[in-house]
Amino acid sequence: MKIIDIQPYVLSQDLETPFYFSQWHYASRKICLVKVTLEDGTYGWGEGYGPADMIKTGIDFFKPFVLGENALENEKIWQIMYLRSMDFGRSGIFNAAISAIDIALWDAKGKLLNLPVSVLLGGVKNPVIHPYATGFYFTDSPTLEEDLAKEAKIYKELGFKAAKMKVGLGIEKDVHYVELLKKHLGDDVKLMIDSNHAYNYREALKLCKRIEHLDIGWFEEPVHPEDYKGYSKLRENTTIPIAGGECEYLRHGFKRLFETESVDIAQPDICASGGLTEAKRIAALASSYHKDIVPHSWGTWIAISAAVHFVSNLDQNPGRMFRNAPMIELDRTENPLRDDVTKHSIQVNNGEIQVPTTPGLGVDVNQEFLEKYSIDKNASTEPLWS
Ligand SMILES: [Mg+2]
Repeated sequence: MKIIDIQPYVLSQDLETPFYFSQWHYASRKICLVKVTLEDGTYGWGEGYGPADMIKTGIDFFKPFVLGENALENEKIWQIMYLRSMDFGRSGIFNAAISAIDIALWDAKGKLLNLPVSVLLGGVKNPVIHPYATGFYFTDSPTLEEDLAKEAKIYKELGFKAAKMKVGLGIEKDVHYVELLKKHLGDDVKLMIDSNHAYNYREALKLCKRIEHLDIGWFEEPVHPEDYKGYSKLRENTTIPIAGGECEYLRHGFKRLFETESVDIAQPDICASGGLTEAKRIAALASSYHKDIVPHSWGTWIAISAAVHFVSNLDQNPGRMFRNAPMIELDRTENPLRDDVTKHSIQVNNGEIQVPTTPGLGVDVNQEFLEKYSIDKNASTEPLWS
């Protein structure tokens, strides 16, 4: 089934309530989606994570090499794109463009074969998934502490079993906010922390020692992504599990992360690290190093759905009869591009997701909102991380 069109879209929308984390403020969301259309009219949607305009340029670069290819041959198409860009972008934007097209191909393939992506990946080994809430960003609100407490209450009421907050504002401030949120979330909701690589090894260790007794779920991106020694030393010297990988690309980036014993939990972003085709390879690599995978996800329901299908197929590692469900990241911050543009078949009930059985990813795009948020109509700054 030939591919006859590849159309990227850059969408942007200013936020009602700007927020910040350890690296910068941001006041808008911006995203690059791609629609891949086949000769019989079947189409699939994909999404890239990172600077949206640059991802669009990457998709436009790959387009002439992919048009006319058979959409069912996703590994062949992946290799065509990889070999065309490898010399110039072994990590970064080109990989996000490959990811977007690859995800769209899996979606289209599922629709063609009338099967959900989870079955195409090899089957649902994990029918129930636990999303964790990503939130607790900082704002300039004079009632910030009350706002954070209200947010914690919402997550508890929705049945989330885990939630993630930002740190990296300085050790004393971090300890204050971690204690505050731990108090409001209680013992039934696990709390994870994420510094977005704000610290060096000694600072990260100091923070760990101050909060280890609070049973933190994981410390995400504690140090610089290239500081593999810092990562591994931290792992050896704290009881808090260490997570990272949203800045890694392809199986080669994750191989470095695993060989250096940097993390307990690897966090590939499927929309940046090479799409679902490469995520399968990263998962095989992770299982051979006995590492957990909880994908990073910071986008629309296309990204979230890709993560759900992927995680449903992950091996049990190790296997046992009574075990925790695998997790995905569910960004709960304000994002009209996620909530208005994409329609999806995923239900989140009492902190659990049942893997959807709709063909493909089970996501479609609302054309009216696609046009409304088109970049031509909305000025904005670049997006970022969770
Ligand atoms: Mg993060």
